[in-house]
Amino acid sequence: MEAMIRSVSPRDGQVKAEIASASREEVQAAVARCREAQAGWAARPLAERKAALERARRLFLERAEAIVSVLSEENGRPEGESWLSEIVPNGDLFSWWISQARRLLAPEKVALDRLTYPGKSASIEYVPRGVLALITPWNLPVAIPLRTLVPALLAGNGVVFKPSEWAARSGALLAEILNEALPAGVLEVVQGGGAVGEALVRSRIDGVFFTGSVATGRKVAEAAAAQLVPASLELGGKDAALVLADADLERAAQGIAWGGLFNAGQNCAAVERIYVEAPIAEAFTERLREVVASLRLGEDVGPLTTPFQLEIVERQMEEARAAGARVLLGGERPDRPGLWYAPTLLVLDTEEVSVLRDETFGPILPVRVVADADEAVRLANASPYGLTASVWTGNRDRGRAIARRLEAGVVTVNNHGFTGGIPALPWSGVKASGSGITSSHLALREMVRPRTVLVDRSKNPRELWWYPYNPRLVEIARALRDVALGKMLAFARLLKNLPKRFK
Ligand code: NAD
Repeated sequence: MEAMIRSVSPRDGQVKAEIASASREEVQAAVARCREAQAGWAARPLAERKAALERARRLFLERAEAIVSVLSEENGRPEGESWLSEIVPNGDLFSWWISQARRLLAPEKVALDRLTYPGKSASIEYVPRGVLALITPWNLPVAIPLRTLVPALLAGNGVVFKPSEWAARSGALLAEILNEALPAGVLEVVQGGGAVGEALVRSRIDGVFFTGSVATGRKVAEAAAAQLVPASLELGGKDAALVLADADLERAAQGIAWGGLFNAGQNCAAVERIYVEAPIAEAFTERLREVVASLRLGEDVGPLTTPFQLEIVERQMEEARAAGARVLLGGERPDRPGLWYAPTLLVLDTEEVSVLRDETFGPILPVRVVADADEAVRLANASPYGLTASVWTGNRDRGRAIARRLEAGVVTVNNHGFTGGIPALPWSGVKASGSGITSSHLALREMVRPRTVLVDRSKNPRELWWYPYNPRLVEIARALRDVALGKMLAFARLLKNLPKRFK
């Protein structure tokens, strides 16, 4: 394993910090500390866990400036964007989970048929899974971990968190803030790259929450399967925006520019394909060109975070050009140090290019003109990914109808991608985008396991299905079957045989 992580600013290429990477033994030790602390944490009343997370919420908001400053150095994020994506919605995320935890974690009574199961009451309790491994990417290095950390901790789990090696400083700062409010060991951090992630998944954990690429997701799933622990996987995307002829062009152009260029396009739910109906294609593309041309590099659109992302963008653009793409804006690196790429708008008339097939993670907006909405839906669904998609139309019913035909975990009509910041709404994908769920009560279900508890108040010496097995038992079973078939006369046989069975 690499010994040191160098944190280099993508804005100017300067080394800002060096962070020690964990050894395999340190990963095991962190998991062991977490396991020891978790039992006590789970045993505390929920009110205490809520109070700790409320303290963490306040500390998180009070330290927002420090977080934004690290994000700017480490990821190159524009300040306003960091506030609006990594700070403000996460304050709400804490509040939502704290306010909903009691309701969502409460045991559920299950009604049992009194005739078949006399004297019995059953309930489902939601028990923390134990020690969870949390492995995250660099692109939203505060928001993505928090979406798992807050509900997982409230539910009584311990978490061993491995931030991306490209976001080690923001990961460390986030954990430091939370740990001021949590008992020692409940949240452990291990720093490092893939080898540290792998060592974590292969250690004694009770579940993995992974967000990242498809290739790594597959490795994580295999390692988790070998351990027989569940893996929640949130993977990549190639999100399509479908612009229909009746769309509000101004809103569509503004929304799609943001949806594609937010975080320099390094967003799992970035608009990476734009399918526009022919009648408005020219007008829409021109307006989109104007909007993108007005954006300032640095203030509105930051640099790419990693050199390998820049390589992918350059390679895809080169291939698109060779395939005859019309580049209306950008398409090159500006002349300045750092990992910058100009916001780019291009029009293609073929689908056979990687910029429309593979994940880009860059400030690239590829437009393709389609004959009609059916063609747009067909092309959108042809992708191996299915994270989010958006439909832009003046007719909301038509928007809803098309949303139902799209193979995506989230579909927005006249908006794009932002629902990832709403804790009440599930964020999930289909196909290669992974089947993990973040946010909402459905995500919480992945962080707990059900425990069925049945309490019997029956005074009968034996149950119907206990020994002895004899002809009377078979007669009763037949009568029960006949009653189930609606033969009401069978009731008489039941009434005759049942009391004798229980004597
Ligand atoms: P990545 O797969 O390279 O790395 C993700 C994390 O996995 C990092 O912390 C990395 O160190 C770790 N890792 C690498 N190899 C590992 C292994 N063998 N075992 C365990 N952990 C290992 O992804 P990335 O480049 O950091 O992030 C970008 C990807 O994340 C994109 O594909 C993007 O679409 C996806 N993403 C998805 C969502 C979502 O909600 N679906 C959100 C954000 C990002």
